[in-house]
Amino acid sequence: AAPSGAGVLAGLDPDQRAAAEVPAGPLLIVAGPGTGKTRTVTHRLAHLVLERGVPAEQCLAITFTRRAAEEMTERLHALIGEPARQLTVATFHSFGLQVLREHHEALGLGADFGLADPARQHELLTAITGDERSARRLRQQLSPARRGGDSDPDTTAALKKYLAALREQNLVDFDDLVVLAVQLLTDHPDIAEQYRQRYRWITVDEYQDVDELQYRLLRLLAPAEANLTAIGDPDQAIYSFRGADVGFFLRFEQDYPTAPVLALTRNYRSGAHILNGAVRAIAPSTLVADRQLHAASGLPANRIVRHQAADERDEAAFVARTIDQLLGGASFHSLDSGRVDGDGPGSIGFNDIAVLYRTDAQSQPILDELVRCGLPVQKRSHDRLSARPGVELLVRELQHVGDRDGSVLDRLRSAAAVLLGSVPEDLRPDVHSAVELVTPLALRCGDDVARFCREIMLGAEVDTLDPRAEAISLLTLHAAKGLEFPVVFVIGCEDGLLPLRWPGSQPTDDDIAEERRLFFVGMTRAQEHLFLTHAARRTVHGSPQQRTRSPFLADLGPAVTDTRTAPRRPRPAQLTLL
Ligand code: ATP
Ligand code: MG
Repeated sequence: AAPSGAGVLAGLDPDQRAAAEVPAGPLLIVAGPGTGKTRTVTHRLAHLVLERGVPAEQCLAITFTRRAAEEMTERLHALIGEPARQLTVATFHSFGLQVLREHHEALGLGADFGLADPARQHELLTAITGDERSARRLRQQLSPARRGGDSDPDTTAALKKYLAALREQNLVDFDDLVVLAVQLLTDHPDIAEQYRQRYRWITVDEYQDVDELQYRLLRLLAPAEANLTAIGDPDQAIYSFRGADVGFFLRFEQDYPTAPVLALTRNYRSGAHILNGAVRAIAPSTLVADRQLHAASGLPANRIVRHQAADERDEAAFVARTIDQLLGGASFHSLDSGRVDGDGPGSIGFNDIAVLYRTDAQSQPILDELVRCGLPVQKRSHDRLSARPGVELLVRELQHVGDRDGSVLDRLRSAAAVLLGSVPEDLRPDVHSAVELVTPLALRCGDDVARFCREIMLGAEVDTLDPRAEAISLLTLHAAKGLEFPVVFVIGCEDGLLPLRWPGSQPTDDDIAEERRLFFVGMTRAQEHLFLTHAARRTVHGSPQQRTRSPFLADLGPAVTDTRTAPRRPRPAQLTLL
């Protein structure tokens, strides 16, 4: 790599730059958390467009979530300016929608086909099964059945009826976006060829979490010699419950035999103790032989704090108290060195803090306690906005409200006013909360109503607060993928939660390995401070239980410091060294 006039790649280290500069052909980048995979792939695209003369419209960047797509678009815009608009940054589903739009006729869909929201799906399923319970059960089986999993004859028959009912109403569902795109490109090689000509440069971030349909779509778009860059970390594969299969990552070299396989080994995110602890935690299940991963210099090296609380309320109190100390800056002592962390008061803000958990149910005690302490909290979820009551109605109304001018927000308000005048009284609160839920997205979409509607259709996620708001983030471990925070709490590090155990069923070895990867993802979100908490007792489904700590906490080595809440000392609770 020529260091001269590094241009758009100036912000990369030599390994990252080498990866970004690989010329045409397939390429696999395998690298651990925080090594700059997302950064490298973004810069690679910028480099191709700005410095290699690749037309931006020939680039297709696939990301895992809409939020990640938005972020990549923003970064690209900052790097290359206007041409960023010509580049397609999509999730598999939004790309599928584009394909369906462009070729709806070949699929027998009307030009104005719509996306069935969950309420509509439920309606259709209830009509087919005759009762709500069976409808809900069938709903659970839809996606696995469409992925081609084994399903009983009844499910197969019901699925067939469901699809017929959807089509009759000129609707597709979320799964259809990829299913139908694959079907189209398989049945029409000429159309597939058009897309291959159009998107000559494809990148896929988080490749370890592709599922079979996504994989098939990708194979159709990118044959063996294509310019496909896949980037990911097998040890962060955490979506097998949704059909993802890390096997596709592992066979990339067979599928694309000419692909160079490059590694990135410097972690720019986490302090050395955090990184070393995380590497030890994943070791028993690692899918990466001879993982090389070391912390870049210059990051604060606080030890991981492993804290035992009495119960979930005490755990919440610990989180609140620790946050308070961190925000106070000077009062927080690094337990091993006695050193005062941070640059004094003000160095850590609410935005820098995340509380991660395995199950959504764990968020309530934390939320209550943080709110009680007057701390601003934002719960991020993976829920789709369109699944929330009222949202779909609002979007449909929005498309019909007469006034075509004005910001999305203005039009949203008019649509809400119309809607409030026409829905039964008991639905009005839904309309109000729907407006509140979509407002952050409306603000991001400015004057572009079409974009706003599209984002919602494509599964824009619920963000209860403005992402720029100063608030502590609460989110599941799954939702934390790809993100980073200076301060991270992983709560509920107990057997039964990590690994998660469903009542009445034993996790398989594969399940446990995936849970361990999830824990690894959680730990590696942390930049400066990582707290792993567990409780000795916890109320689960209404009954108090004795808990043992997570087996994943076992071998963190010297990276960890233990604390526990002093027993039977109601107030003020303190940190005590074991
Ligand atoms: P994950 O596996 O969690 O998705 P990743 O490999 O995609 O992580 P990034 O999110 O791209 O990693 O980068 C992690 C952090 O390190 C980011 O804050 C990024 O800006 C920073 N970073 C990456 N490369 C460099 C670099 N060469 N110099 C400085 N900072 C860097
Ligand atoms: Mg990433």
